[in-house]
Formats: sequence, structure tokens, C-alpha cells
Amino acid sequence: MSAPLAVTTEAIEAASRRIAGRVLRTPFVLSASLSERCGVPVGLKLEHHQTTGSFKLRGATNAVLSLSPEERARGVVAASTGNHGRALAHAAKAEGSSATICMSRLVPENKVSEIRRLGANVRIVGRSQDEAQQEVDRLASDEGLVMVPPFDHPAIVAGQGTLGLEIVDDMPDVSTVLVPLSGGGLAAGVAAAVKARRPKARVIGLTMERGAAMKASLEAGRPVQIEEEPSLADSLGGGVGLDNRVTFAMCRDLLDDVVLLSEDEIAAGIRHAYEQEREIVEGAGAVGFAALLAGKIKNIEGPIAVILSGRNIDMGLHLRVINGETDPFREEAA
Ligand SMILES: *Cc1c(COP(=O)(O)O)cnc(C)c1O
Repeated sequence: MSAPLAVTTEAIEAASRRIAGRVLRTPFVLSASLSERCGVPVGLKLEHHQTTGSFKLRGATNAVLSLSPEERARGVVAASTGNHGRALAHAAKAEGSSATICMSRLVPENKVSEIRRLGANVRIVGRSQDEAQQEVDRLASDEGLVMVPPFDHPAIVAGQGTLGLEIVDDMPDVSTVLVPLSGGGLAAGVAAAVKARRPKARVIGLTMERGAAMKASLEAGRPVQIEEEPSLADSLGGGVGLDNRVTFAMCRDLLDDVVLLSEDEIAAGIRHAYEQEREIVEGAGAVGFAALLAGKIKNIEGPIAVILSGRNIDMGLHLRVINGETDPFREEAA
């Protein structure tokens, strides 16, 4: 590993100015049901209403806008479990560039076709993010495309961090922020932004039991690889990258805790979103609900902000979860 890069508050504030008008400033609303249940105000950052259905548009837009005109003309390339691909396809098109997206065969079909529809070139390779990444490396070195990775890049982390600035603006006394965690771009950016303004606030990363690469890496003290398994929270799949430069160190230094959620708990979160909050969220976007409902946030200090990070779930799967199925992937994962 080379020396880690940390993303500064200034970089996040610059990103906020750069992407203003190009991404939505999503609403922040109080949840009556969770505030009552937890005994402290619980606010919801409705980022699943973001254009392309997830926060990934913030980082992708900041990254594309940070390129030189010559780099933009060559086009961008990334490996993606779906939402980064969508976001990069949209951002590249919006700024007059082109995107090539590589992804593993584990990515659900609804996400693949959506990325094609957004105008990107799609390449399906291998059974893991790491294999898809090898194709990205090849396209970058052989064809000169510019790599824009899903999380481990300063411009991506700064873009995702703009969410943290908005949360503190909308809930100035926030004490606990619950943030979905996979590669850590979102958690690193949000933690840096929130703690710059509210040094005592706790930022807790939430992820699924099945394939929690960042949790395993933090415990090992270095990025480690773990096996990927199908999960309701498919957007939280993928490794952290063995040569991680930005997000591992930032998550290690800035996150107060990482909490793991079972498939049953994530399903309960998706149902809560739908039945109590009247929101459709994907598994990754429901982990905040899952953690609060399961009582897994210890010594709760309010006010709490929960990030609903995305809504790109297959609607057939969503219906099955709403109808009571808790673990649609049990057999595949066994
Ligand atoms: C990518 C993604 C995450 C995790 O973000 P990282 O920056 O990889 O930690 C969480 N939720 C959704 C909906 C996502 O698309």
C-alpha cells in the first residue's frame, strides 16, 4: 500500500459547489415512527430519490467534472455492481463524455439493462468485482480510457461527502449518523464532512453479514479479500481492493463502529421503509432501518440521521420481500 490519501473538508466543500445544480439536494424528513420507537428524533436523508436512484451520482459527477477536457474526450471506465455504473453513465453523458462499465455476472439484470439504457457500453466479466476490475485496468492501459473507480478515489469520496454537509445543515445537532458501508466511499466522505462540523458526532457504518469486506479488513488492520455471496443488499457487495489508497484508512480513522445485519433484518428494513415510511428502498438503502429495528445500535444518542442510499431493487424481489419472504437468496448462499 502506498501512503494513504485523506479527503479534506475543503475538497468536500469544493465538490458541493461543483456538483450544485447537477445533482438533487435530496429531502431530509423526520420519521415519526422511528422517533417514537427510539425516543430521540430520527431524521431520514431521502437520497434514494437522487437522479439515477442512488447517491453514487454525487461522486461520479464530481469525478467527471474534475477531468481535463482531453481526459473527458477519451471517456471513462469503471467496474460497478450497478449504481456506480448508472451514475457514471449518466454523469459522463451529461458532461459530453462516454462511459464503459465492467461488472461481474452476480449483478442483477435490472441493473445491467438500466446502465445500457443510460447510454454506457457494458462489459460482463467474471464472478467478482476484482475480475471486472482487471478488465478496467486493461481498457485503461490498452485503450486510454480514464478509470473512475466506485469508491477508492479522492474525487468520489469528496462527492459522496457532500451528503454529510447537507445532513448537518438540515439537522445541526445531529449526534449519530447511520451510513451504509461497502467499499467505504460514502462512509469516508460522510464521516469526514460530519466530523468537521460536529466533532463529537458518531458515524456508524452498516453492512450485511454476507460478505462484509470492510469489516474484515478493519479487523485485520489491512485490506483483505473475502468471498462474495448473494444478498438482499447487493449494492454492498464487492471487496475494498487490496491496494486501497483512500477509503480503508479513512474508515479506520473516522468510523466509530461497524454493525453487521442479517438478511432477515435487512428484509425487515425494506418492509419498514415501505409500510411505515412509504418509501421503496433497496437492501443497501434499508440497513439503517434494519439496525434500528433490530436494536443493534447500542447506547443510542440522538438526534439520529439515517441515510437511505438507494432504491434500485428489482420490483419483483421487492414484492416478495413485502409479502413476507425474508431471505430470497438462502439457497444460493448456502
Ligand atoms: C454503493 C452503495 C453503497 C455503499 O457505498 P460505498 O461507498 O461502496 O461504501 C450503499 N448503498 C447503495 C445504494 C450503493 O449503491
